[in-house]
Amino acid sequence: MINETDPQKMYRAMQAKLSNVVPDFELKLKSEIAAEINRLKAEKNAVILGHNYMEPTLFNSVPDFVGDSLELARRAAQTDKDIIVFCGVRFMAETAKILNPTKTVLLPAKKAGCSLAASITAQDVRDLKTRFPGVPVVTYVNTYADVKAESDICCTSGNAVAVVASLHTDRVIFLPDEYLARNVAKETGKEIIFPTPDPRKTTDSELNFQMIGWLGRCEVHDKFTVEDIANVRKQFPDVTILAHPECSPAVVAASDFSGSTGAMIRFVENSSAPHYLLLTECAMGDNIAAANPDKDMLRLCSVRCPHMNEITLEETLEALQKNQYVIELPQDILERAARAVQRMIAIG
Ligand code: SF4
Repeated sequence: MINETDPQKMYRAMQAKLSNVVPDFELKLKSEIAAEINRLKAEKNAVILGHNYMEPTLFNSVPDFVGDSLELARRAAQTDKDIIVFCGVRFMAETAKILNPTKTVLLPAKKAGCSLAASITAQDVRDLKTRFPGVPVVTYVNTYADVKAESDICCTSGNAVAVVASLHTDRVIFLPDEYLARNVAKETGKEIIFPTPDPRKTTDSELNFQMIGWLGRCEVHDKFTVEDIANVRKQFPDVTILAHPECSPAVVAASDFSGSTGAMIRFVENSSAPHYLLLTECAMGDNIAAANPDKDMLRLCSVRCPHMNEITLEETLEALQKNQYVIELPQDILERAARAVQRMIAIG
């Protein structure tokens, strides 16, 4: 965080941090907006949370806390500020509201969706529970509040294995990310099935399985391939490759490390490879490069998450100026979703 309200001081501070990743004309422009955001943030008694996927000028200026979805969920639960401005996507802002319902939670862009969250509805979860009665439902935090409300417990990419293990059951429904589910199944030695919408087309009772998945995918991590990795390794044989668990199991297997965005950041900070390649959202590579100027970060990035990309300093300023867009959730959804999220937080 750069807690400057003076545009000149903000510019110099941003320049010191970001001159290797952001052009100077952009820093000048953005520093004025960031300084005004900080002034308004103090005036309105707000806290700003910034996800690791925020673009570098935002990530490195106005957030009071940055991190992955679990780290930010914890910060949201703990804050005593009146307003939480969530610089991330909608499901994250909803989680902040679930954990601290008396606060005003603002999402700076109205849409800011997510292909994973959009892949499943609350009715889909109810249908699965009817089809697999008594099987507990684990839901990735990348889902909307009404889906969380149908779940027994939530998980993140960082604690998914621990959450599944904590249930001590023979079977678990794990939703909605196909690749994260396959990666967890592989790590825990479980057989996984992906039921067709029409139960008459399968014979569940005859199958040997311990996990039931769903065919949702992150449109960003789905793009990385084993061929990408082979090409980079050909050019840089001593590269260390880090893959997010939302990448396919084949991509994860071909990488050197797999973990949540927070785990990837810690891995880079605590190791000393000649080159690193991150298989995750592009902006995070820039943010890690800015924080670790001595480390060589290769880029395999042509695509940003279109949803994360909606959140900019300009939108964040407008959110504080106009008190928009307020996250509102029905009381019963809030309460039921809170149980699933709190249960996850208790595990860690
Ligand atoms: S990076 Fe993937 S999982 Fe994250 S918000 Fe974008 S689409 Fe959703």
